Parts: sequence; structure tokens; C-alpha cells
Amino acid sequence: MDELLQTARALLARCARVAAFSGAGLSAESGLSTFRDPDPDALWSRFDPTELASVAGFEADPERVIEWYNWRRGRHAEVRPNPAHFALAAQSRLVQITQNVDSLLEQAGADPERVYHLHGSILQDRCHNPDCAYIEIVDMQGPPPLRACPRCGDRLRPAVVWFGEALPASTWRKAEALCRQLDCLLVVGTSATVYPAAGLIELARAHGSRVIVVDPNPGAAGDLADVFLAGAAGQVLPALLEGFDLESPL
Ligand SMILES: [Zn+2]
Repeated sequence: MDELLQTARALLARCARVAAFSGAGLSAESGLSTFRDPDPDALWSRFDPTELASVAGFEADPERVIEWYNWRRGRHAEVRPNPAHFALAAQSRLVQITQNVDSLLEQAGADPERVYHLHGSILQDRCHNPDCAYIEIVDMQGPPPLRACPRCGDRLRPAVVWFGEALPASTWRKAEALCRQLDCLLVVGTSATVYPAAGLIELARAHGSRVIVVDPNPGAAGDLADVFLAGAAGQVLPALLEGFDLESPL
């Protein structure tokens, strides 16, 4: 591990254009369970998260979906950034592409302008009507029940990307453009099985970028790594990034 860590640090030291790409594993250490982990709350354990987090699930029972999200929002309101979030956020010129809908990178001090949320944000509601651009910030301590859009009367829903939905176009375009001009992509806590987001790693590689992967399990992203650092992000990242001031091309 130490030798690989030094290899990764030597690689980063040669790279002028770097970006980070994170997934659920980054926030799991803060206590946010991933969809693939068993749900610890018996109240919701009988539901399939992939059905709740879908347009079909929302159409079938919108109240239930909002109730589930508000329970998840309560969990988000309780958790705090872990050392991995702080280590990434301390790289103040680094762009953070993330699949996470939480705001833990921002809470750790990352510039919101440099955090690209590919899957949206659970801190916001937006109108379910694709032709209506209404969006609002939600009070995470007391999130509201299902309600109508004040602009068009359709229903409001969490501003996250559900299974089967397209990623937000402008954020996706920025992430793709960035991945075409990197020397190194630092991949943290993602199994790289969720497309199209996982395609970013391949896109970066196809344009000459090296790839460092930090994850407890080799998974799919391990196959794409030039250097694979096995371990918890909260332990590996502070050691990996100490002393660096990495920069992303904007
Ligand atoms: Zn609307």
C-alpha cells in the first residue's frame, strides 16, 4: 500500500490538469448508506429503492416517494463530511464531479461552482413537468410533503436523477468537456457500474488521462486504474493529497 501510495503521489506530481470523480463510497463513510446496501430502517426495508427512485414509482404513489425522500433528507441533515470530503475540498482549485446528491463536499468547504452534481441534489425540489423550470431549496430539517408547483400546478419532486432518467444536460456536458483535457482523473468510491456516468472514466482514458482509483473493492473501476489504492477513502485521500494544490482546467 505505501509503495502504491508513493506511486500515485509521484503520478499526481507530474499532472497539471486533474479532476476528481466520486460516488457513493465517498459518503458511505459519513453514514449515508448506498442503494446497494441493505436499508437499516425497517420502515423502508420492504421497499425497493430502485422502484421508489423512479418516474414509475412516483407516478404510482407520489406521496410514498416524497415520504421516503423526506426520511432520507432527515438522514442527510444528521451526517457530516468525513476526512475524505475534507481532503478533496482542501484542493480548492480542483473540480469535483460527483454522483452523490448530498452536499458533503460543499459542507467540507468545496467551492459549489466546482462541484458538478451529475445526479442532481437532494437539497432541492423541482417541478416534475419537464417543460417547467421551477426549482426551490428544501428545508432539510423539516422537508415539506407532496405539493403542487406554484408555477404550473404539476407536482414538485426531489431535484435528483432517477433510475432511467437522463443526467442534467449542462452538467453532463461540462463533465465530458473536462474529462477530455485531463492528465489525471482521481476516482473515489464508485464501482463504475452506473452508466453513463461511468463512461467518464473511459472518456478520460481515451483522451490520454491517467486514472487513480481509491476504493475498498477493486470493482469495475479497478480495471480502468493505472494505480489502484485499496482502502477507505477517509484513510487514503488525506495521505494521497497532503501537500498538493491540484488544479482542474476550467
Ligand atoms: Zn411547474
